Amino acid sequence: MGARQQDLFGKPARGKRRWRAHVIDAGINPCIGPQHIAKFSCQRCQWASDWEAFETIGAIKRGIPCPKCNVGGGA
Ligand SMILES: [Zn+2]
Repeated sequence: MGARQQDLFGKPARGKRRWRAHVIDAGINPCIGPQHIAKFSCQRCQWASDWEAFETIGAIKRGIPCPKCNVGGGA
């Protein structure tokens, strides 16, 4: 009966479930220094982002919250 791994996911989060748009394309922008850029698409509403810039690849892999699906705290 130690710490349960599920607590990581089961604890009350600040928000409700958020829909995330996942990366569909990624690369490096050489014009303004080494910067990661990526495009995202939401599988729920088909929203697609423009190129977004990130400092880390981790942020890209996580995805970004879909601005359409997360309006008003979600459906
Ligand atoms: Zn969406």
